[in-house]
Amino acid sequence: MKNIAATLEAQLDNLSLCQLRGIAAVAEVHGARTYLAGGAVRDALLGLQVSDVDIAVVGMTSELPIGVAQALNGRVVARSQFNTFSLIASGRHIDLTMARCETYAHSGALPTVLPGTIRQDLARRDFTINAMAVSLSTGSFGELIDLLNCQSDLKTGMVRVLHDDSFKDDATRILRAARYAVRLGFTLEAHTEHLLRGAVSYLDTISPARLRDEFMRVLQEGRAVSILEMLQCLGALRSIHPALALSPQTSDALRRAAQSDYAEMPALFLSILTYSMTESEKANLVERLQLNSRLRQTVQSTGLARSLVQDDRSGGDVRRSEIYRRLKGLDEAAILGCALSEGDSVMAQRLMLYLNELRHITPALKGTDLLALGVPQGPEVGALLDDLLEARLDGKIETRQDEISFVRAQCNLPASKETCRTS
Ligand code: ATP
Repeated sequence: MKNIAATLEAQLDNLSLCQLRGIAAVAEVHGARTYLAGGAVRDALLGLQVSDVDIAVVGMTSELPIGVAQALNGRVVARSQFNTFSLIASGRHIDLTMARCETYAHSGALPTVLPGTIRQDLARRDFTINAMAVSLSTGSFGELIDLLNCQSDLKTGMVRVLHDDSFKDDATRILRAARYAVRLGFTLEAHTEHLLRGAVSYLDTISPARLRDEFMRVLQEGRAVSILEMLQCLGALRSIHPALALSPQTSDALRRAAQSDYAEMPALFLSILTYSMTESEKANLVERLQLNSRLRQTVQSTGLARSLVQDDRSGGDVRRSEIYRRLKGLDEAAILGCALSEGDSVMAQRLMLYLNELRHITPALKGTDLLALGVPQGPEVGALLDDLLEARLDGKIETRQDEISFVRAQCNLPASKETCRTS
């Protein structure tokens, strides 16, 4: 059996290696065997940095994760169905999963799970590239378990399912296939692609939460736009939702978004993806993906941003303070998504003016400064601050001294009453 201990030592840092050995030692005390499995093995063999560690445990007990957490000075942070435990130790995320065999009662159903061998655990996985494991046990540390010649797909760059019903059993694998293919620069193996195309309608069988999670993982990828384009080519995008379609303009806007350094890329992508949708299509999508309130807000605000700057009630140029007033407080991702979707139009210019400049403008004077100037306490202070902001936004005043003169003129205050700094 091939031993890849040297590869693991090259791709994992010392802390991870220590943790893996520590986990194996605790498992042995509990009579269990541990294997590094899935993406970590794939990435190690590809010479990529291994970040997440997934460990399959044959002979999982309920005490074992607690014992591991204690040995690593960490803690169990989550326990999910199918005996999967998430641990955090020394800042590292570790998943301990019971090795299992699965059967599906019907398409899209959660699998029926029983404890299994490592062979059974590998056979239930999505693609050959994810179906290898490495023993962590003392005495066999580093032994590669590759029952399906998965290394050959890794070498030739193929994403291949393990059996013909794979996408029908669990259609989230459709999104996963595109994600791995684009991320790793791999090709969908011809028969796998055929099966995938024939199974896109099975995306309907997936629960909103699972579909959302896989869709968000797509949007979080570095090459999310290419994955979306691939999903569209495969006919999968419209099976997620009929209104999800990438026109050339949408693709362009998504690419411009991807090049920006915006912090919440999934929200920005969603804004662009929903930009041309009708209100009811957007509501359906929000429902289908059970989006959280943050993303709901982005989707709902996207159309609002457009209509707010489109509606030119003044008949000519819209004043800068008017643009500010209309967009103030609106979701940032929605405004940016709207601007990127609008290309070089006047609307886009207004939106970018708001994002880049107007929303950062504030008067130099504060309420206390106005009182010091002699403005009487009361609602007039707030109204004057609003007037100051408006005058600043419209470029009518530029300096603190301008603001002081503005306040004096507005309130008929004598010049001698000024007590605040005038620089
Ligand atoms: P990434 O590299 O994006 O972090 P990963 O390859 O580690 O992803 P995860 O989604 O973290 O994948 O899942 C861990 C492993 O569990 C996968 O490598 C795969 O073997 C298996 N797996 C995950 N989802 C499925 C699924 N829907 N069907 C079958 N196996 C799956």
